[in-house]
Amino acid sequence: MHAKVKSSETEKNIEGKTICHFINGEYTGSANGKTFNTYNPVTGKVYAQVHEAGRDEVDAAVRAAKNAMNGVWGEMTVEKRLELLYKLADGINDRFDDFLEAECLDTGKPYSLASHVDIPRGAANFKVFADVIKNVPTESFMLETPDGKGALNYALRVPKGVIAVISPWNLPLLLMTWKVGPALACGNTVVVKPSEETPATTALLGEVMNEAGIPAGVFNVVHGFGPDSAGEYLTQHPEVDAITFTGETATGTAIMQQAAIGMRDVSFELGGKNAGLVFADCDMDKAIEGTMRSVFANCGQVCLGTERVYVERPIFEEFVNRLKDEAEKLKPGLPKEEDTSFGPMVSLQQRDKVLSYYQKAKEDGANIITGGGIPEMPEEYKNGFWIEPTIWTGLPETSAVIREEIFGPCCHIQPFDTEEEAINMANDTQYGLATAIWTENASRAHRVAAKINVGIAWVNSWFLRDLRTPFGGSKQSGIGREGGVHSLEFYTEMRNVCLKL
Ligand code: NAD
Repeated sequence: MHAKVKSSETEKNIEGKTICHFINGEYTGSANGKTFNTYNPVTGKVYAQVHEAGRDEVDAAVRAAKNAMNGVWGEMTVEKRLELLYKLADGINDRFDDFLEAECLDTGKPYSLASHVDIPRGAANFKVFADVIKNVPTESFMLETPDGKGALNYALRVPKGVIAVISPWNLPLLLMTWKVGPALACGNTVVVKPSEETPATTALLGEVMNEAGIPAGVFNVVHGFGPDSAGEYLTQHPEVDAITFTGETATGTAIMQQAAIGMRDVSFELGGKNAGLVFADCDMDKAIEGTMRSVFANCGQVCLGTERVYVERPIFEEFVNRLKDEAEKLKPGLPKEEDTSFGPMVSLQQRDKVLSYYQKAKEDGANIITGGGIPEMPEEYKNGFWIEPTIWTGLPETSAVIREEIFGPCCHIQPFDTEEEAINMANDTQYGLATAIWTENASRAHRVAAKINVGIAWVNSWFLRDLRTPFGGSKQSGIGREGGVHSLEFYTEMRNVCLKL
């Protein structure tokens, strides 16, 4: 029933004309022939057609996942399963350049960034969780009984079943494998719906799954959009046992409503409006270097990024001037060029959204310290989704620019006078994902980190990730924690066995 695409057409599956679903170990198109365009953000041109899954393809993918769960994958020993995950990680590294090219084609991000973060982390996610699974014990209790013989209780950790993975476009491979890695390590099977903006590396991973010998049906991919498309069909599917999602808080709300039908468990990594706190006792060089990355890395399209910077008044002016100088050194350019330090936004729609905040900042009376528009680019790339790194001061804390997640390369810098005032401003948001605190005073560092309502508080660093630690958001920034043993809470179920002696 599916239009099978010959393997020669999918061989490179990244620069070809078509990106297909990956269902039950095979690349396949949509039965209804529906496709959509995917763009290269550097040129603004369409670079491939992507098949859009209808209910039939989603159903086929979920059934394939269910069959693998009830068959070869469910019966496989843990040792064999983990061996395959190691092969998978090696397989991604063996095809590093293919993944790098695909990721940068979809996102426009510099090779220098993707080759250090996206691809190696994308591969490492399989090894990390294979290691976790090997080393986590379960609990046991002896219960005393009236007959004096007792009962032994012990817990078994069992997979949940078919996991729907819905992923965003900002770190496509990394954030997708951050879910698929633990899901498979725990013995589940998955159906992934990557972002419609960035389908390439998820599709390519299918080839590596086959090369590594992962059984058909364990990893499936369906492409498409959210509402009335693959995303919604997948989260509505009654045979999906749990849903893990990274994306906007509003989308999380819609998915949670679908998950309520059939009582499916959810794991959510959602939006943020993260504050950076810079104290007068900071090491200014470190604070500038870290804030530069936290505001502008990946063109500001990082959920953990800083969009609100609070700086203690005595160093406010110096900080603003130095951040401006550094921001103006960022060099937009082609992903492959070594001196490119700044890529485009992922899509025209996303750029328009960010530009609307640039406009709003002007209307609300911001001082534009730098940026605020679209940069001049050479003729060949002028239709790419470029935008200027932007810094503002002088806005009231009530401005939408300070209250809403923008997800672009911009920040507002506000002075503060006391530690308490800084903490209050940092916490005055519906979000609670991350913060970065810059101070050389260790007591202050511990005190402030404990008081900011977030999932991750960095001190004198940003995006420094130990993958064994809990990762997730407080308030409207998420539900649950991922990372290390914490991922097991969602990807497994504990079954207690009580044996009367
Ligand atoms: P998004 O919510 O628009 O889309 C994410 C995914 O959900 C896409 O695959 C999309 O097709 C799908 N989707 C949309 N509507 C759906 C529906 N009704 N049912 C099922 N699926 C649906 O998010 P985005 O624009 O791709 O990503 C940016 C957002 O992600 C930002 O808010 C950012 O903060 C957040 N994010 C959070 C983290 C984190 O770890 N907390 C990490 C990265 C990104």
